Amino acid sequence: MSSIFESMNTKDHEQVVFCNDPDTGLKAIIAIHDTTIGPALGGCRMWNYASDEEAITDALRLSRGMSYKAAIASLNLGGGKSVIIGDAKKQKSEILFRSFGRFVEGLNGRYITAEDVGTSVMDMEWVRMETQYVTGISRALGGSGDPSPVTAFGAFVGLKATVKKQLGKDSVSGLKVAVQGVGHVGYHLVKHLTEEGATVYVTDIFEDSIKRVVDDFGAIAVGPDEIYDLDVDIYAPCALGATLNDETIPNLKCSIVAGAANNQLKDESIHGQMLKDRGILYAPDYAINAGGLINVANEIEGYNRDRAFSQAEGIYDILLTIFQLAEDENIPTYMAANRVAEKRMEDISKLKNFYLPKKNFMGKRDNS
Ligand code: NAD
Repeated sequence: MSSIFESMNTKDHEQVVFCNDPDTGLKAIIAIHDTTIGPALGGCRMWNYASDEEAITDALRLSRGMSYKAAIASLNLGGGKSVIIGDAKKQKSEILFRSFGRFVEGLNGRYITAEDVGTSVMDMEWVRMETQYVTGISRALGGSGDPSPVTAFGAFVGLKATVKKQLGKDSVSGLKVAVQGVGHVGYHLVKHLTEEGATVYVTDIFEDSIKRVVDDFGAIAVGPDEIYDLDVDIYAPCALGATLNDETIPNLKCSIVAGAANNQLKDESIHGQMLKDRGILYAPDYAINAGGLINVANEIEGYNRDRAFSQAEGIYDILLTIFQLAEDENIPTYMAANRVAEKRMEDISKLKNFYLPKKNFMGKRDNS
């Protein structure tokens, strides 16, 4: 493996913090990618990594993704992510998460954490006992709670922007949509789609999840492998990453890919180009699924659910901007999204800060 500094230089990471507390069993890595726009916000993943290198790679990759997601969503946040190395089913405890909270507090707001794969709202409540720099707290404690309805709403408006660009329609009424994964986000997305008159095909690996959307919204169930071959207008991935790859893309009959899953393209450059070559309009994942981040970002200023939903509505215009740039420059949409995000980071870095008051609130820069 290359040295940690070489790895950080490759994608311009600012800071990586190794947290080691043998008394509580905590081994964690906090990666801060970029704080040009604001404090680095990103969830805390707990995972049994096969090696420390794997954990570092994951933290670096995920934190960079958060910078792009915050930048494209016009949030005043940077990108960060943390990973706790361990088995989320066996090794969780109050002192583990409180110890992690102390490390977060030590960064004095440069990094704000939240729940992620392997961690829960309850774990974040332990973290909150030690630091104010945590989001994703329950509604009962004044937090934003489950982000999925906002994510699904953002994905729905993003899907409609994609329909507008590709098919010139203002509604999904009469269109056929294949939704892969009907968990937290997929369930609400199917609701929005069927309410507007779309015919929705669904698949999942859990029968109960499928039954719920069939019973509640009249969706049509298909098998997990059938989802790529359906004669539909839109494929909406809402389960795993990397479902757009060499095997699946040639089978797609749709002209639109618009769903909430993270990291949909197995290889960004190869499969982003492949979709373009096939004339399929791809809504870049981190733009269309930014509703979840918008939701937790709202918590920093005092959570307001209506404001979170209305900010998520902005995903419509964000996607139209990306699609226009992709068309003007004849580039794949993932590349256009990256350019829009990078331009915002670059533009904001030009702002002079000598006239700002010297204060440090929730990680905003102290310019002393
Ligand atoms: P979830 O775990 O609640 O739902 C995912 C569903 O996909 C589950 O029901 C699971 O059984 C199903 N699934 C797994 N493998 C499958 C397969 N091979 N075929 C069909 N179905 C399969 O997760 P979620 O919170 O709904 O998130 C869905 C996706 O959206 C994830 O990629 C997540 O990273 C992304 N995302 C979620 C949020 C959020 O607010 N929850 C925000 C941004 C991005």
